[in-house]
Amino acid sequence: MAKSIVFITVDCLRADHVGFGGYRRPTTPFLDSLTAESFVFSNAIVAGTPTYYSFPAIFAARAPLALGREILGLAPGEATLASVLKQIGYATAAFSAANPYISARCGYDQGFDVFRDFLDHEFGHDGLPGEEASGNGHASASAGRLREINRQLQRLSRNVVSLAKLYDEVYFQYCQRWAIPPATSLDDLRRFPSADRIVGEACSWLATVGRQPFFLWLHLMDPHAPYYPTQKALEITGQPQTSAQRARYLNSFWQRSDLKPQSLMRHRDEVIALYDAGIRWVDSQTSRLVETLRNFGLWDNCIFALTADHGEEFLDHGGRFHPPIGLMEELIHVPLLLRVPGLQSRTTASSFSLANLAPTLIDAAQARPQAGFERESRWEQIKTGASWNEPAVVECIGGCTNPFRRDSGNRLRPRLLAVREARYKLIFDFESKRERLYDLETDPHELRPLPDGTETVVRRRLLECARRHIERARNERNDDLSLRTRLSEMRLEWAESSHQSATAGF
Ligand SMILES: [Zn+2]
Repeated sequence: MAKSIVFITVDCLRADHVGFGGYRRPTTPFLDSLTAESFVFSNAIVAGTPTYYSFPAIFAARAPLALGREILGLAPGEATLASVLKQIGYATAAFSAANPYISARCGYDQGFDVFRDFLDHEFGHDGLPGEEASGNGHASASAGRLREINRQLQRLSRNVVSLAKLYDEVYFQYCQRWAIPPATSLDDLRRFPSADRIVGEACSWLATVGRQPFFLWLHLMDPHAPYYPTQKALEITGQPQTSAQRARYLNSFWQRSDLKPQSLMRHRDEVIALYDAGIRWVDSQTSRLVETLRNFGLWDNCIFALTADHGEEFLDHGGRFHPPIGLMEELIHVPLLLRVPGLQSRTTASSFSLANLAPTLIDAAQARPQAGFERESRWEQIKTGASWNEPAVVECIGGCTNPFRRDSGNRLRPRLLAVREARYKLIFDFESKRERLYDLETDPHELRPLPDGTETVVRRRLLECARRHIERARNERNDDLSLRTRLSEMRLEWAESSHQSATAGF
């Protein structure tokens, strides 16, 4: 009998912040215990970053930009992990914690009997971290006169650099301490439904599946900015004293655009502690989900996989959050744990691209699908204990922080590409036409690119791999799918504009 699959993706989860990835804090005690019966990929690499360049590869096993840079998400009718499994009789359900880039609008509902993305009024936002209010938008309407004085002060202060800095600091502190009503609850501040809610929905659905094989996908946002863990998560991570007010202050501080990295360092550790509490909550709720699977008698025939769509930066290279800028390890290296009943636990250091995950999962489930994927399965090597040498390739549009905009500042910018082996990594920027080569063994934090002209053999090998990737993407390009996506987007835009016209009374 084909095995069921439970697949968890965690937004923004770095490989080096889980226990089985060597983290010093106990963020993942349950997942660590699960490694005793799992295959662990210590070099799992996303195929694109952030969310909108990572998920097409995870679900459709293809390069993120294979359909053209103007295509966002999955194409209508494209073979996906869910649609392939549904076709062969799996019950399918998705519970996703309000990330608009993996919504039905971007094609992710395809193949799911039940698709719940929580993008309702309660969590109706675009999920972009840069938009968290730093206080400026919270002043009450009655403060109009104050705002005018403030505007004048701001204008005056811009003439003198030191005065401008002082102004920014005073204004930030004023907003945080006096202008905004005090925060009383972390639950009120949180932007995304927390893991307990997503897991709760999943458990209710599991109670209905019966004996047929099923595919259950959960996408959890707890470690995503703004970092507002549950109160319980703060307690179990030893920070019960962190109040909602303090958490809001830290998040607002962390989003300040007027501060340089050295000033932001002041609260970095506290911000990371909030992020880690989010991971701890994912871990405890995953434990609850597995317990439910056991209670329902489903665990013994169930494949379990957990990974992330990308990581998160905490000033490692001077940045924050996860914009597609550098393709450094904190963004592209993610945890991946695969539990298949009967499979020996093992860790592989071979570089594994998440573009190979969907076919690997289908093979591991012995589901024998009709539809093929562009990327191959690694199941044979995993099963037999063999390794593989193919490097992982990561691609994205450099600096594209708002893919819903199609202008040249976003989706049409030059691409960024990384080729990642277990030891060496090459990053190629198509804008500057420059490459950087890192030896991750001697320089795991990517602080010193190898000097030009050194390691010529490695350099040539990785550049050749980049060339093959671009060529393959060109050959793989499926004009039919691209056309269908464009038509579908046009239909959506038309529907939206007619809705706006209707509500505007035209
Ligand atoms: Zn994401």
